[in-house]
Amino acid sequence: MRHVEAMAATNRIPTAITMVPRAKALTSWGRMTALGYEIAHERLGESTEGAALARGLARSYGDASLPARASDRLASTLLADRVLAFDPVSGRLRAESGLTLAELNRLFIPRGWFTPVSPGTQFVTLGGMVASDVHGKNHHRDGCFGAHVSGLLVRLGDGDLVECSPREHSDLFYGCIGGMGLLGHILEVEFQLRAIPSPWIRTETLRVNNLGEFLTCLSDAASRFPYTMGWIDCLARQKHLGRGVLMAGEWSSEAPPGARPPAHSLRFPFDLPTGALNRYTARAFNTAFFRAHRAGISRSLSTPEPFFYPLDRVLDWNRAYGKRGFTQYQCVLPRAAGPEAVHEFLQRMVQTQSTSPLCVIKDCGPEGRGVLSFPLEGTSIAADMRITEETPRVVRLLNEFVISAGGRIYLTKDRFTSRRDFAAMEPRLPTFNALRERWDPNRRLRSALSQRLLEY
Ligand SMILES: Cc1cc2nc3c(=O)[nH]c(=O)nc-3n(C[C@H](O)[C@H](O)[C@H](O)COP(=O)(O)OP(=O)(O)OC[C@H]3O[C@@H](n4cnc5c(N)ncnc54)[C@H](O)[C@@H]3O)c2cc1C
Repeated sequence: MRHVEAMAATNRIPTAITMVPRAKALTSWGRMTALGYEIAHERLGESTEGAALARGLARSYGDASLPARASDRLASTLLADRVLAFDPVSGRLRAESGLTLAELNRLFIPRGWFTPVSPGTQFVTLGGMVASDVHGKNHHRDGCFGAHVSGLLVRLGDGDLVECSPREHSDLFYGCIGGMGLLGHILEVEFQLRAIPSPWIRTETLRVNNLGEFLTCLSDAASRFPYTMGWIDCLARQKHLGRGVLMAGEWSSEAPPGARPPAHSLRFPFDLPTGALNRYTARAFNTAFFRAHRAGISRSLSTPEPFFYPLDRVLDWNRAYGKRGFTQYQCVLPRAAGPEAVHEFLQRMVQTQSTSPLCVIKDCGPEGRGVLSFPLEGTSIAADMRITEETPRVVRLLNEFVISAGGRIYLTKDRFTSRRDFAAMEPRLPTFNALRERWDPNRRLRSALSQRLLEY
């Protein structure tokens, strides 16, 4: 790879070294908290030494980015956010793991490049994208982010620095992809950007009346578009079960005349009282959202923000769930289980009456090579749930069905799955445990999630 320095100069210059000397409550996106220490340092090579876990913007919903013990120290990657090298011919980029996707987009979309895979928020770091092996609207075509990563610089639990890739220490490389920070702290990430013809996306939106129609339309859209996803009204029942709105898109080679810049973000101003977002308010929202879309197909040109990151327009929207917080249940059901399994799952989820307005359905392509990567070929369904006394029971019920259908849940969104359920849905667990045994035999790396699901 040809190294050039031009981009580094345009990056934010890291300023202070921030020390957090006392244990404090660290929070995740679902508003779960755990006591621990967090240190942010522009020299990640130093702050990761002796750290139990690295974390980025803490956009994982549950306990993946939280410490296992109050005495554990976490290395925040946020001050280590430099672009280290970029080849403008091939689009190969190497950057520190604290670089955010928002900053990457700001730097590269105007230059005609986009991340090969994007999650539904740009407030994530490269390290978080690798550790969760994030998937996007193009999973059916392009797989997860890890499929586009060619090298990682990793600090192991015992302090050693290791460069790994599909050719060098490949077991560590594929273990770190989707490995939830448990095999090593990722210091640098090298990956391939995608050339885009313009910063505009040609979109098609389609209102769909029920689940059967949805699955057919998703599969049809997936054959025509690189990006697809659907919103489902998860409170509609019987003949309306699975009604919703399907969105598909592709990069456009033309910009619209007199194009407007994207709208600014709003900030969610306060915590809603617990219970404000309930079955009734959710039903009103869902019905209004469904009816806001005309029957049939609508076509338009969109900028990347509303198309890829609609939720980012309201900053801190997690406050809408009140101080008790929320979780997201996201599972994937294998294609082999058939559309009946998706139907049955949705029916069970609707019956629990536990979900909020946000329910997303996606078409997933083949399983990737990350040892614990989430997606497998089939259908993924994700729904936010406000936390109540009932939530652990609901998660157990849904897990039961997912296990029987041969599916699995997404670790970065999870908070309530038990060790037993995880082992039952994860045939790759022994391989991952063997990797931990090899690369971190003393279990210096751990998180609240590893404590819950892997015993340490
Ligand atoms: C609104 C919203 C939409 C989302 N949409 C999607 C989606 O469409 N697809 C999808 O796949 N995900 C999605 N996510 C989940 C999100 O992409 C992941 O949780 C991502 O990992 C968050 O990045 P982060 O930098 O905040 O990581 P954190 O939450 O800080 O950390 C997540 C995990 O990565 C580990 N980690 C972070 N940095 C490093 C590092 N440098 N080295 C080693 N380990 C590290 C942490 O230890 C932790 O286990 C969404 C999240 C939100 C809030």
